[in-house]
Amino acid sequence: MLNNLETNEIYKYEEGSKATSKAIRCGDIYVGGKNKITVQSMLNTKLSDLEKSIEQAQILELNGCDIIRASIDSQEDAKAIKMLKESIKMPVVADIQFDYKMALYALENGADAIRINPCYIGTEDKVAAVISSCKFNNIPIRVGVNSGSVKKEFIEKYNGVNKFSLVESALEQVRIVEKYNYDKIAISIKASDVKMTYDANIELKKRTDYPIHLGITESGSDEDGIIKSSMGLGSLLLMGIGDTIRVSLTEEPLREVIIGRKILQYLGLRPYGIEVISCPTCGRTKVDLINIVKDVKKAIAPIKKDIKIAIMGCAVNGPGEAKGADIGIASGNGEALLFKKGEIITKVKESEIIEVLLDEIDKIQ
Ligand code: SF4
Repeated sequence: MLNNLETNEIYKYEEGSKATSKAIRCGDIYVGGKNKITVQSMLNTKLSDLEKSIEQAQILELNGCDIIRASIDSQEDAKAIKMLKESIKMPVVADIQFDYKMALYALENGADAIRINPCYIGTEDKVAAVISSCKFNNIPIRVGVNSGSVKKEFIEKYNGVNKFSLVESALEQVRIVEKYNYDKIAISIKASDVKMTYDANIELKKRTDYPIHLGITESGSDEDGIIKSSMGLGSLLLMGIGDTIRVSLTEEPLREVIIGRKILQYLGLRPYGIEVISCPTCGRTKVDLINIVKDVKKAIAPIKKDIKIAIMGCAVNGPGEAKGADIGIASGNGEALLFKKGEIITKVKESEIIEVLLDEIDKIQ
C-alpha cells in the first residue's frame, strides 16, 4: 500500500524494534513483517553453466545465504532454474532485464521470485502477461531503481538524482504492478552513495509498507565495499528499515554473504557463529596478539556455535573490557589468564592459548 506523496512527516520508529512491513512469501521463506532479515547474493556464473552454478550456490547456502538471484538471459538459463532448485533449498530469484519472455520462461521453470521493472518490459500486453503469470504462480516481484537508472523525467522534475527522484522512479514500478491488482511486491532503491541510499530508503519507508530490499550498489571491493555497505545497511537496519539485504561487492559472492551475515550479527539481528572480541593492542601488550587473533580465527572458523570469545592483550583491563564474552584470554608475559564472563578462572602458557580456547569452546553447549 502506498501512502500520500510529498509527505514531510519524519519517519518514526521504535528503537530496537523492526518497523512494520507486509510479509511476502518467497519459496519456503517469508520476507518482511516480523520475519528474520534475509541475506541475498547473486550468482556470478552463467546459470546455464549448471555445474559451476550449482557448486557456487551450494557454497553460498552452506555459508548462510538465504536467497539466491541469477541472471536469466536465455531460455537455457531459465531451464537451468529447475535443476538448480533440485540442488539447493534456498529460493531462486530470476533477474530479468528487458525481455518479458525470459520472465515467463523463468516462471514456467519454477523461479521463486522475479526481479523486473515493468516499465522496461514494453507494451501493456507484455506487462500483463508477466504479472498474470506471477499471480497464477503466487510469485513475488521485486521492482526498484539504482542511482544510475533513474528516468530522465524524474531527474528533471526533482532536479537531479536524489531521494525524491529515486523514490518516484521506484514507486512508478509499484503502481504499474498494483494496476493489475497484484501486491506481492518487494522494492529496492540502491545508490552507490551511502547517504543517498539512506535518505531514499527512509523516504520510501514513509510512503509504503512493502518489504524493502537494501543494498549499496556498485560499492566496490574490499574495505571500500564493506565499509559503504556496513554504514548504509547498518544505519537503516538500526531504524527498523530493511527486510532483506544484499552486500554488493566486486568480489566472489561468498564474501557478500559473509559480510551480510556479519552485519546482521553485529546489529544483534541474527546469530552467525563465533564472534571474536579482541583489543587493539597497546604499549602494555607483551605477546604477538595480532597473530594470535589471526590463528584463533582460523582455528574457530568451522565452529558453528553462537558465542562470543575475547582475546585481550593484558590481564589488567582485558577481562573487564570483555565482560560480555562467554570465554576469553588475557595475555601477559609468556602466559595468559583464561576468563569466563569477565571472571578469571586459571592461567595458561602462551603456547597453549589456542588449544585451551578450543577446549573451552567445545565444553559450551
Ligand atoms: Fe592495552 Fe590491555 Fe587494553 Fe589490550 S586490553 S589495549 S593490552 S590495555
